[in-house]
Amino acid sequence: MRWEVPLCRPEFRQDELEALVDSYRSGWLTVGPRTAELEDVFSQYVGARHAIPVSSCSAAMHLACLGVGLGPGDEVIVPSLTFTSTVSAVTHAGATPRFADIAGVTEPWLSTAAVEEQIGERTRAIITMAYGGHLGETPQIAELARERDLILIEDVAHAAGSRRDGRHAGTFGLAGAFSFSASKNLGIGEGGMLVTDDAELADRAARQMWHGLGSQAWTRHHQASPQYQLGMLGFNYRFDDPRSALLLSCLKRLDEDNERRAAIDRSYRAAFSQLDLIEPTDSPSCEDPASYCLFTAVLDRSLDRDEFRKSLAERGVQTSVHYPLLHKSGFYADPNVRLANSEDYASRCVTLPLFPQMESWQEELVAEAVRESLSRPVHAAA
Ligand SMILES: *Cc1c(COP(=O)(O)O)cnc(C)c1O
Repeated sequence: MRWEVPLCRPEFRQDELEALVDSYRSGWLTVGPRTAELEDVFSQYVGARHAIPVSSCSAAMHLACLGVGLGPGDEVIVPSLTFTSTVSAVTHAGATPRFADIAGVTEPWLSTAAVEEQIGERTRAIITMAYGGHLGETPQIAELARERDLILIEDVAHAAGSRRDGRHAGTFGLAGAFSFSASKNLGIGEGGMLVTDDAELADRAARQMWHGLGSQAWTRHHQASPQYQLGMLGFNYRFDDPRSALLLSCLKRLDEDNERRAAIDRSYRAAFSQLDLIEPTDSPSCEDPASYCLFTAVLDRSLDRDEFRKSLAERGVQTSVHYPLLHKSGFYADPNVRLANSEDYASRCVTLPLFPQMESWQEELVAEAVRESLSRPVHAAA
């Protein structure tokens, strides 16, 4: 399909692309000085002591789970309403995920009470996911984790630039994992970042993401007779200098981009406020800067979501569903798990286009297409 309004569309300025090209011209293509600079800039930006650039958010989640020592016999409380990486990291580490419900049907993030209910003998950690960049109940869950002596890991794939009371997403617990994948608000292609204040976790992750070698290529490059030792079992989860160079320039406009996203979010809310059959999910408080990575809304029970999406597609508007529930089908399917709010939300939610370079005719087209699609006879059979 050719979309009049795609869900997102990454765009780069000339100077940003030049930073990428300059890095390619420098002759150094793997992890090196630009990646070291990115570590500094990113850790300062979020206010974490350590930032470790890696190949993806999924890799960062995996390193976090291994780095805090999760393994067989451990249980980790996770949302089911999330992308697989939030939970597959737990499984890859050998631990067992336990699904908890979201706070409500317009609050699609983990509920503190639901998390508390899942805490048992074997619980060692909680993983939150900042849905669409909204921190949700993260501060309360961080408090609960402290009280119960549990580890908190944050999947903040959507949340570059999201803060609550000045504190950046990813810094409420022991570790946070960001994504630079194309569809995220800081999307540059592929990539991720692990942040933590914990020196031991940072050191372990930095070695493990590089095959577990004791020294890095840039260091060895400057030695007369370089050698390395295999200190531990690891992976190739490396990032690289060209993408670091691009990210460093994109970071400069992240806050501005997020403000533009916030403005589009507000304009959608204004356009939908008079409509009965669609309800946007809760927005972050206007006091807190946020990434506005996704615009999501819940459709009335009388509507057929597939028909609604088809009707938008016919008008050139791309939509998505964030997310099919993990406990409902496929690898994690479990008929014994019941999560009423997650199940209700996942059956009625829809994601609409949102990206900073969206033009006003595109915003209007989406609003008009939603209005028309709601008034069409798309009611599901009762
Ligand atoms: C996209 C996404 C990820 C995975 O990010 P990658 O960088 O592609 O590994 C993890 N968690 C959530 C919530 C996501 O949306």
